[in-house]
Amino acid sequence: MIKPILFAIALFVTLGVFAWTMRRVFAYFRFTKKKPLGDFGKRIMLTVKIAFLQEKILRRPLVGLMHALVWWGFIVILFGSIEMVIDGLFGTERALAFLGPFYDFLMAAGDIFGLIIAIAIVGFLVRRLFMHIKRFYGPEMKPVSKADANLALIIIFLLMLTLLDMNTGYLLWVDAEGIQQVGYFPVSQWLTGFFVGMPAKEAWLLYQVNWWAHILLIFIFANILPYSKHFHVFMSVPNVFISRLEPLGYIENMENITKEVKLMMDPDAAFADQPEDEGEPERFGVKDVEDIYWTNYLNSLSCTECGRCTSVCPANITGKLLSPRKVMMDTRARMKEKGPGMLKEGKTFDDGKALLGTYITEEELWACTLCNACAMECPVNINQPSLIIDMRRYLVMEESKGPSGLNTVFANIENNGAPWQYSPEDRMLWAEGLEVPLMADKLAKSENPEYLFWVGSAGAFDDRYKKVTREFVKILNYLGIDFAVLGTEETDSGDVARRAGNEMLFQMQAMMNIEILNGYEVKKIITCDPHDYNTLKNEYPDFDGNYEVIHHSQFLQQMIDAGKLKPAGDALSGKKITFHDPCYLGRANGEYKAPRSVLNAIPSVKVEMERNKSFALCCGAGGGQMLKEAEKGDKEVFMERTEEALKTGCDIIATACPFCMVMMTDGLKYTNNEEEVKNYDIAELVSKGLGL
Ligand code: SF4
Ligand code: SF4
Repeated sequence: MIKPILFAIALFVTLGVFAWTMRRVFAYFRFTKKKPLGDFGKRIMLTVKIAFLQEKILRRPLVGLMHALVWWGFIVILFGSIEMVIDGLFGTERALAFLGPFYDFLMAAGDIFGLIIAIAIVGFLVRRLFMHIKRFYGPEMKPVSKADANLALIIIFLLMLTLLDMNTGYLLWVDAEGIQQVGYFPVSQWLTGFFVGMPAKEAWLLYQVNWWAHILLIFIFANILPYSKHFHVFMSVPNVFISRLEPLGYIENMENITKEVKLMMDPDAAFADQPEDEGEPERFGVKDVEDIYWTNYLNSLSCTECGRCTSVCPANITGKLLSPRKVMMDTRARMKEKGPGMLKEGKTFDDGKALLGTYITEEELWACTLCNACAMECPVNINQPSLIIDMRRYLVMEESKGPSGLNTVFANIENNGAPWQYSPEDRMLWAEGLEVPLMADKLAKSENPEYLFWVGSAGAFDDRYKKVTREFVKILNYLGIDFAVLGTEETDSGDVARRAGNEMLFQMQAMMNIEILNGYEVKKIITCDPHDYNTLKNEYPDFDGNYEVIHHSQFLQQMIDAGKLKPAGDALSGKKITFHDPCYLGRANGEYKAPRSVLNAIPSVKVEMERNKSFALCCGAGGGQMLKEAEKGDKEVFMERTEEALKTGCDIIATACPFCMVMMTDGLKYTNNEEEVKNYDIAELVSKGLGL
């Protein structure tokens, strides 16, 4: 009788302390912004894939497998822990044994996992203590973070040790007493070999001491977790469940800006939709924790501080201040700091500090290339770039603070419809001497072409990329494709403006373009620019711009697969080609195959860079970086990427994006390789293969 009483007291204290802690942590959610979830079916699938099957952690197979085994082991061992709680409360002995063979299977699996986890934890500790793994370091990793990680690992190790000792004691006891054994314990059975002949009393003591040690360690661990980075043990599954379902390239719309833009563009129609009084206007973007969504806060609580995001961040790799892990850790720390004050005085509580400014500097924010490598890597599916963009939105729209280069870009887009100071009238100069039909002319002849070719600002104005645009049009004409362009009616897609925080300008551009595209009843769009591809495909639907958008790599692949395009000439035979994955084609939209299939159709030698496909390093241009001065660091991102490409011994760096082309061309120039190694777009390579 004494055991159930003692156990009930221990359980009651554990649950009480845990509930008290969680009440405090969850109370802060009320200060965050609301966001609906929806799509529960998809969310369940995502949770199964990422949380239970550990899809993302297994991207790095060896360490990933160790982590995954620990996680799967925890789930299996949890079953035994539930049984211990039942036994503890009701004084039963192996209460779930009635499950028969299933019970035997779970007990055996738990026993094996106990050993696997113990070995994995020793491996993790050795890595943390004796090997200099770069991602475990960084200015944000204070001694307390490291001590916290080590303490949690030691507790897990002790949990496994007590589990195996408990099972061993049980087997020795039933054997000595001649009691019928329930459950199967292969590892512990082997361990009993070290205690042959142990008397029943001692075996019982070994069993019971470890039973109590194990369950009490679980209770203590459960109450340490909310104060440690290992809180993710509780939070990772819910965090994956609430994480984003959209492609990584998609940026969430700001409805309050949409209202403003509609008001500007059509005051009569917009006023008709407006309720009389909407109360205090919401702040644009994120300055402090009360501006974040509840999902951002949950993200921050789930961050394991593993540093996988920071280890792949091109800004961090090249010595800039930005660390996506720090963004998450700062958000959590700031809520912990400001939360108690807001609980007392409400959301308006002001302690003179803010997430943006006190914790995260502008320099960190502007170093981001929005490459999404961090979000791709995060094992608990945190989306760091969305918070970075929200802080940029605050800086640009509330404080009018942006790097001077970007302010010029905004002015140019507003006045000229392109990031550079070119006249909108010159948008078709690239097409001189080519046969390029205009949508307006087609409409005049009552024709509706199958494709709209979206040239994009870089395709129309960047001197190097104009050549790519011309080659691609030659291919379209060679294939006899029914297409047309908007010509001077096209204006910048707004991609750069949005990623640089100027949501207002982005939405104005988007709405102008959509009005024109819808006016022409456009159904299919081809573009060579992955940034515009992403924006038109993923973001324009938020403004009633719904089109089938195809990147030129996908179009070329379709034509090659259909046997209509055979770039089999020997102009490139023997040349070594390496392909640089554009972030907005690859990670942002999952297209890695099409450009490679196109290149494979051209007789030449293909080589991959060390970081390729979803692991590819950004060229350094995205998020507005190409149009402003880079932040301080050890190196330019494009140099890092070019050096990686050169290591393959390639003759040609193939790209499929105007921004990547600029950066890689610069890289070849600065490394004095522009004579030996060439940078071509895949359309140019196809054109060479066709002999056009
Ligand atoms: S999006 Fe890219 S540059 Fe920005 S924080 Fe993530 S990894 Fe770093
Ligand atoms: S944000 Fe994700 S990848 Fe980055 S440290 Fe946290 S858990 Fe790891």
